Amino acid sequence: MLIGIPKETAPGELRAVVVPNDVVRLVKLGATVTIESGLGAGIRVTDSDYEKAGASVSTDRKAVIGNSDIVLRLRKPSTDDVSLLKPGAIHISFLDPFNEKPLLQHLAAHGTSAISMELIPRSTRAQKMDALSSQASLAGYAAVILAAERTDRVLPMMTTPAGTINPARVFIVGVGVAGLQAIATAKRLGARVDAFDTRPTVAEQVKSLGARFFEIDLGETGQTKDGYAKALTEEQLQKQREGMAKQCAISDVVITTAQVFGRKAPTIITRDMVQGMRPGSIVVDLAIETGGNVEGAELGKEVEINGVRVFGLENMPGRVAVHASQMYSANLYNLIEEFWDKENKLFKLDLEDDIMQSCLITHQGAVRREL
Ligand code: NAD
Repeated sequence: MLIGIPKETAPGELRAVVVPNDVVRLVKLGATVTIESGLGAGIRVTDSDYEKAGASVSTDRKAVIGNSDIVLRLRKPSTDDVSLLKPGAIHISFLDPFNEKPLLQHLAAHGTSAISMELIPRSTRAQKMDALSSQASLAGYAAVILAAERTDRVLPMMTTPAGTINPARVFIVGVGVAGLQAIATAKRLGARVDAFDTRPTVAEQVKSLGARFFEIDLGETGQTKDGYAKALTEEQLQKQREGMAKQCAISDVVITTAQVFGRKAPTIITRDMVQGMRPGSIVVDLAIETGGNVEGAELGKEVEINGVRVFGLENMPGRVAVHASQMYSANLYNLIEEFWDKENKLFKLDLEDDIMQSCLITHQGAVRREL
């Protein structure tokens, strides 16, 4: 089977879809791999590194996409790129399937079997393929590093001859994969960390990382069978905001990661709450790409509200592009290996398998799942 890997075209995207180590592993499975020249440029991996790993390198992007049985990418394809695909080809990438209905229709109409990385289920067997988690974890890390760099305070407690400095206070809102990594990173830097999530089950995880779980009684909240939060009612959200306002006011750094799978992120930190914070404090809104948790945060920008710096930067995992590439590449390899028919040396779209049932979103001319 021919696997084609075009380079990413989004401005500022440094991540590489696949790293050479996984080319070696794909070739070992029996696949033929062609990459577009420059695939690894953002992480300083050269074409010759990919060649040494066993890939052929092409400068003809159209051929890389159009000749392949499987196309691997990071971000969703443009409709033009979809039109280049061989009918019946398999396309694997993030697709933003909840917001990209026309793209799904286009992939289906083109006869593409498209796998959406967002729809890999949250099961134990699928963990190694879970790219939402691998990238979210790095985003959580990168958010704390950004905040630490932009605040004009130190994070750890320091006892010095010139006096004692109290640890900075970091408040993490939303304790999923990104939030947990943010807590761990802030703790390693010596901050005093509080965290809140609507799923009470995470309280133990927060405590085990040495942070305090901030309690607000919101009544029934719950989670889905996949472990995602359910959306709160407007009354519950209001109660949450009131409960959190004081905690924000005493925090030097607030990092929000709250998402509701497949829906717009809830607005949790209002402009009033930001204005109630001390000037010089930092807010990082990691949910900005799904609508944002912070009123006034702007996609791709740093804005200042009453002296509080609010970051709504895109592509936080891309700030640690080497490891983000390594992890995404491994997720893709693990997916391919899981469904690789070793005898016939091909990737099998096993429709009986629960992982495939969940993530194969278009097949044989149809969109397979209502989202
Ligand atoms: P996510 O990105 O959908 O959301 C981030 C966090 O925001 C979640 O913890 C959610 O509960 C929280 N949230 C939603 N609304 C909120 C609000 N109003 N206020 C505060 N917090 C709010 O979640 P995720 O990071 O993808 O993880 C969801 C869960 O799935 C986690 O418990 C994670 O550990 C679990 N998980 C399991 C597996 C597996 O078993 N294979 C894999 C990955 C994640």
